[in-house]
Amino acid sequence: MPSEPIRNTTARWRALDVRHHLSPFADYKTLKQGDGGSRIITEAKGVYLTDSEGQTLLDGMAGLWCVNVGYGRQELAEAAYRQMLELPYYNTFFKTATPPAVELSEKLAEIAPEGMNRVFYGSSGSESNDTVVRLVRRYWNLRGQPEKNHFISRTHAYHGSTMASASLGGMPFMQEGFGLPLPGFHHVMPPYWLDFAERDDDGTDESPADFGLRAARAVEEKILEIGADKVAAFIGEPIQGAGGVIVPPETYWPEIQRICARHDVLLIADEVICGFGRTGYWFASEPFGIKPDLMTLAKGITSGYIPLSAVMVSDRIGEVLESGEGEFAHGYTYSGHPVACAVALANIALIESDGLVEKVREETAPYLAERLQSLAGHPLVGQVRSFGLLGAVELVEDKARRKHFEPIGRVGTLCRDHCFANGLVMRAVRDGMVLSPPLIIEKPQIDELIDKARICLDLTAQDLGIAI
Ligand SMILES: *Cc1c(COP(=O)(O)O)cnc(C)c1O
Repeated sequence: MPSEPIRNTTARWRALDVRHHLSPFADYKTLKQGDGGSRIITEAKGVYLTDSEGQTLLDGMAGLWCVNVGYGRQELAEAAYRQMLELPYYNTFFKTATPPAVELSEKLAEIAPEGMNRVFYGSSGSESNDTVVRLVRRYWNLRGQPEKNHFISRTHAYHGSTMASASLGGMPFMQEGFGLPLPGFHHVMPPYWLDFAERDDDGTDESPADFGLRAARAVEEKILEIGADKVAAFIGEPIQGAGGVIVPPETYWPEIQRICARHDVLLIADEVICGFGRTGYWFASEPFGIKPDLMTLAKGITSGYIPLSAVMVSDRIGEVLESGEGEFAHGYTYSGHPVACAVALANIALIESDGLVEKVREETAPYLAERLQSLAGHPLVGQVRSFGLLGAVELVEDKARRKHFEPIGRVGTLCRDHCFANGLVMRAVRDGMVLSPPLIIEKPQIDELIDKARICLDLTAQDLGIAI
């Protein structure tokens, strides 16, 4: 008798997923207990995903903040195919290189902020932030100040999941129980007005401008506490992404810049999410007035089609590295992978030919901001924030008092599940619903996104018994 054809592939994949696949940031116990299992995504085109049950979802997150040019771009598949036939792999260790690795380096130097002309490659944002830690320590060693090796970062920061990058990160749940942060990694208040701004006795809130300065000065206080002769670098995402799309007040970054210069502390911009047009600029350092010494890139560098990351190094650092004796004993088998670099070149060419940086800045970012504002009056919404095609709708119990729901995260998860069920991918960070759609999104699709989000906010309010 012929064996039974596999009828329900979704059920099969879910069962296999539970049995054999340990997926990242998942609760294995509830998965094992049969909480419905994972959603299986099978195809995607443009800004839409299709799951194994045939449901279409508008991807408001561009995968994990990375599919900048949208799904299904032939040019990227062809670039990978051609490169795989020509030279699928060669390493860049011990004085070797490949054409895609050097061509991409030139291109990155062209689009990066002034004075950043050197690149060190990895395959993920986490790897590149680890590279940053080693590069910075190498730099201060060469400068004869090996004790200048402490790092300052911020609460709610996300810099990756390896031991060093998770130490840079400011998410306690990623550190507790893992012996993290490693020694020498410190954290200060983020420029997150909604949670950290002060309110005086007559109920007046600290202005965002004043708060931005105070948040920046928290970095200076930390430098003084540790001792400026021990602090190697400060690292920050221009806009904190995974921490909840925290858009800093305009006063914040220029003050950080001054503080770092005053104390000879290196400034590292983690542009893993913000880069490659996400904010309407090639890099967010531009609109925020950041002149980084080092800059981490990943995600949008290949629009997520293949793993690649980079550290851009300023001339100031590069010249010291080039003056030092001995080799920089650091690197990855896949540093400068030729296929990944070829895809990155094709991806940057697409961002240029589609005019995505300008499209975001002039057309879709202002439109998204305007449409998000239309949700600000919803009874659940405490604040809407956006910059470029990064957005957040923060759900609170009491708007006037900036009071969160308790326990934190429950309402966000409710809303996220409604989004999934209603054909929209929007992620919940605590109770902030965050957005980072592909940069190719058109205005009618932004309308669709906002309409769906509003329905899901209503359904969430209904669950909570709040009148709308
Ligand atoms: C995603 C992310 C990282 C880590 O990148 P991986 O490729 O997941 O290792 C680092 N920094 C920021 C800002 C990120 O958003």
